[in-house]
Amino acid sequence: MTDTVYLDHNATTTLRPSALAAVDEALSLTGNASSVHRNGRLARRMIEDARDSVAALVGADANDVIFTGGGTEANNLALKGAIAGRRYVSAIEHPSSLQAVATATLVPVATSGLIDLSALDNLLAAAEDKVLVSVMLANNETGVIQPIGDVVEIARAHEALVHCDAVQGGGKIPVDVAALGADFVSLSAHKIGGPQGVGALVVKAGLDIDAQLLGGGQERRKRAGTENVAGIAGFGAAALAAQADLDRSRQIAQMRDHLIAGVRNLSSSARVYGETAPRLPNTVCLSMPGVSAEIQLMAFDLAGVCVSAGSACSSGKVEPSHVLAAMGIDGEESLSAIRISLGWDNVPSDVERFVEVWGSIYAKSSARSNRAMVG
Ligand code: PLP
Repeated sequence: MTDTVYLDHNATTTLRPSALAAVDEALSLTGNASSVHRNGRLARRMIEDARDSVAALVGADANDVIFTGGGTEANNLALKGAIAGRRYVSAIEHPSSLQAVATATLVPVATSGLIDLSALDNLLAAAEDKVLVSVMLANNETGVIQPIGDVVEIARAHEALVHCDAVQGGGKIPVDVAALGADFVSLSAHKIGGPQGVGALVVKAGLDIDAQLLGGGQERRKRAGTENVAGIAGFGAAALAAQADLDRSRQIAQMRDHLIAGVRNLSSSARVYGETAPRLPNTVCLSMPGVSAEIQLMAFDLAGVCVSAGSACSSGKVEPSHVLAAMGIDGEESLSAIRISLGWDNVPSDVERFVEVWGSIYAKSSARSNRAMVG
């Protein structure tokens, strides 16, 4: 039995040792950050130190960071709570943005996976009141990085607010909220080596947002509920580690390119989605011609390689990806796409193992279809 090779870091990434230590330390302290006694003050200190570290990762002011119960909650808070009229959401957003407001208007993307800026401009020109635009920094399935600066420029021309889901971009590429220009930026701890169930929404100074959880004054009255001190402390430690590790992104991109070259060597018809656009260094969305993602996933799993379907997996059934559909990829082809996402603890031999297994799955399925043709 070989060791597991984990290549599903966009789903969740390995906890950083410093994050584990911070969670452990916080869990060992009995204290509610709202209490005025010594233990309460210690818990408060942990939260505020973490706020500084998370803010530093994205060049924000710590006062603008609101801790949430994850990226999903941060997206819901922005989309439901922003004080604006209609919502315009890109067609490739994560479901937590797409489904937060049922009446949102979808903004199309081009076949490259990049947002259609002229469509956005036209939609906003026709909008009547001050609206909110939501476009992610980097897509979780393809890794395509969106031109948020251009989105903000168009939005500003129409006096619209901008929300940017930076859950997949944060900690993988340099993010500076001031340079990005967005009014609201979502982050999630477990995508950068922190624990699951904690995230943040950065709200630009001077902007207000309607709280979605009521019943307490925590997080400047924008998110009621006793703070998840351990989760937040882990998030802070992960933010520091991810920031120190940003230099590794070149090595990760090299591994990704090596992976693509290895697969192309085995089949020139394997397709990489979003390949013409700027992409995250760690993400590849890849088809294996004629082999469904479900079959691939099972075969990879048997070989000890963890990857995920490029398509949405709901109630155990793989469905065509809304992201690939928005890029004009037909349903059948998109069902053969898988997502490989590298992380801070992957090494080149992990990629070699992936390519080896990819080759053996492809060879077996090609042999089977040749036999079927002969038969
Ligand atoms: N946004 C994006 C782009 C994501 O990839 C994810 C998780 O996969 C989320 C939001 C949700 O984050 P969380 O898992 O912290 O709720």
